[in-house]
Amino acid sequence: MLDTLGTLERTHTCGELRVGDVGKQVVLMGWVAKKRDFGVFTFIDVRDRYGVTQAVVSEETAGEAHAKAKDIRGEFVIAVKGEVVARDEAARNAKLATGDVEVKVSELLVLNDARVPPFQLEVAGSENLAAEDTRLKYRYLDLRRPRLQQNIMMRAKAVRAIREYFDTRGFIEVETPILLKSTPEGARDFIVPSRIHAGKFFALPQSPQILKQICMISGLDRYYQIARCFRDEDLRADRQPEFTQLDMEFSFANQEMVYGLMEGMFNHVLKLIDVELPEVWPRMTYAEAMRRFGSDKPDMRFGMELVDLSEHLGDTDFPPFADTLAKGGKVKCIVVKGKADYSRKQTDELQEYVKRYGAGALAWIKLGDETTSSLMKALGEEVIARLITAAGAEKGDAVLIVAGRKPVVAASLGALRLEVARREDLIDRSAYKPLIVTEFPMFEHDEESDTYVAAHHPFTSPMDEDLEKFKAAVNDDSKHHLLGEVRAKAYDAVINGYECAGGSIRIHQQEIQALNFKALGLSPEIARERFGFFLDALEYGTPPHGGFAAGIERTCMILSGTENIRDVMAFPKTASAQDLMMDSPGDVDEAQLDELGIEVKHAE
Ligand code: ASP
Repeated sequence: MLDTLGTLERTHTCGELRVGDVGKQVVLMGWVAKKRDFGVFTFIDVRDRYGVTQAVVSEETAGEAHAKAKDIRGEFVIAVKGEVVARDEAARNAKLATGDVEVKVSELLVLNDARVPPFQLEVAGSENLAAEDTRLKYRYLDLRRPRLQQNIMMRAKAVRAIREYFDTRGFIEVETPILLKSTPEGARDFIVPSRIHAGKFFALPQSPQILKQICMISGLDRYYQIARCFRDEDLRADRQPEFTQLDMEFSFANQEMVYGLMEGMFNHVLKLIDVELPEVWPRMTYAEAMRRFGSDKPDMRFGMELVDLSEHLGDTDFPPFADTLAKGGKVKCIVVKGKADYSRKQTDELQEYVKRYGAGALAWIKLGDETTSSLMKALGEEVIARLITAAGAEKGDAVLIVAGRKPVVAASLGALRLEVARREDLIDRSAYKPLIVTEFPMFEHDEESDTYVAAHHPFTSPMDEDLEKFKAAVNDDSKHHLLGEVRAKAYDAVINGYECAGGSIRIHQQEIQALNFKALGLSPEIARERFGFFLDALEYGTPPHGGFAAGIERTCMILSGTENIRDVMAFPKTASAQDLMMDSPGDVDEAQLDELGIEVKHAE
């Protein structure tokens, strides 16, 4: 028989009681985290989201409660009433905030029972957790784990801090619709069929990009929103089909003004974990970041920068290098301090690693007692010595070298730099190194189709310095390739190698926006069909404007110190875009489909 709560009210949470409360009569309610039966005494750890408190039930002084305690198991919901007593010195538990006291139970209510959980909730550390799929299916149980509860609470604090930051700076929170027309951010849209307009579809926002720009045209001046965004992408481990952004935009903006607000917001939020970031973050252009780190989001917590060896190879006829250089490619390296003793097996592993990023091979020089190199035969001692000097390597170091097309060298050495830092433990985990990366390219070139796509999104403004080049490239077919050189007023905020925010100054003139659609291969008809409303709006007095969006999950991952995005979301989806708890996506009734005028072609 279960007990009823009646009028009983809890007086304290399970994380609250301290020595100063000794002598008080209290009522705690929560879940049974653990029960230990010692005959005449039963110890029950009662848990709620605030903590754990030990309750002691004595057969001698609370016979009825003691008898009830026999039948309770983990995750039963109980209420205990009793007196707070100090624990004996020897019985104190320094790991628990409430560990100096316990509750001497006079009354025990069993408010609900619970099935045996399919996995153990309380495990020390996170390494022994049950398989993630099981935990996602029983998310309500997984969410009882203190670690996840801390993360969810931290997320709420972060969002509150963000609102506070923008509210106090004159920004207004505007809710934009979820049922929308497609907003291109480079991913596929999730679409929603309309019943009233059968055969027509809404799209869920990939971001509120166009609407926030329209807010600027409307004169709202300073907008922000905690916005849910949806992108139907092939998922990567750190992506989710729906996620949340702090989205902001303001009028009469220039880049420095936006950087100031990005810095200010993150600095304000990181105070939640007592991290003080510099008021003004270092800036680096995209070109410099790619050159020095092989990445547009460099992790600045360690050095090991890429060094260009291309000019130090003399007139080598070693085909892999000679051919690469003849085709405008690069030969670059990183220097791994003190790793001249890398074994063959280790360099082979690192070679496999760079191959994943398209590199053909990984060459090495090891400066041990003797200098050895996979290139010794091909290049000869003299050239090797020159490379060592150029790389700045010293006795004891290993030099790791990749040759290839510029993007391949950047991607593979950039990734290798991170991998080596992880393996050799070169990253100071207590450091927070922010960076603003500026002057992103406006377009990315798609080799296969020889077309240009927007590197950020199609509303991003070219840099003033590159405007003429941009116009020439769009208007003159023979100069089309110059699009690849146009830089945009686009930027990212990066912390510890994570892209936390990105944005741009927008195009505010219809004529330039139309040119940009042309550059992207959209005919005027298609541009009008998709974005006519926006092109029209641009013609009614659009102020210069810009802004950014910051990933709430990414930010919370930094705050919570986790590398798993699902750890900072209450109800995440799996890497294959399913909700295992609700079992979605799921089927719908035939009748529902009929109403929508939809017929499903079932996959074979
Ligand atoms: N809408 C952009 C994004 O989602 C951010 C921005 O440009 O403000 O990445």
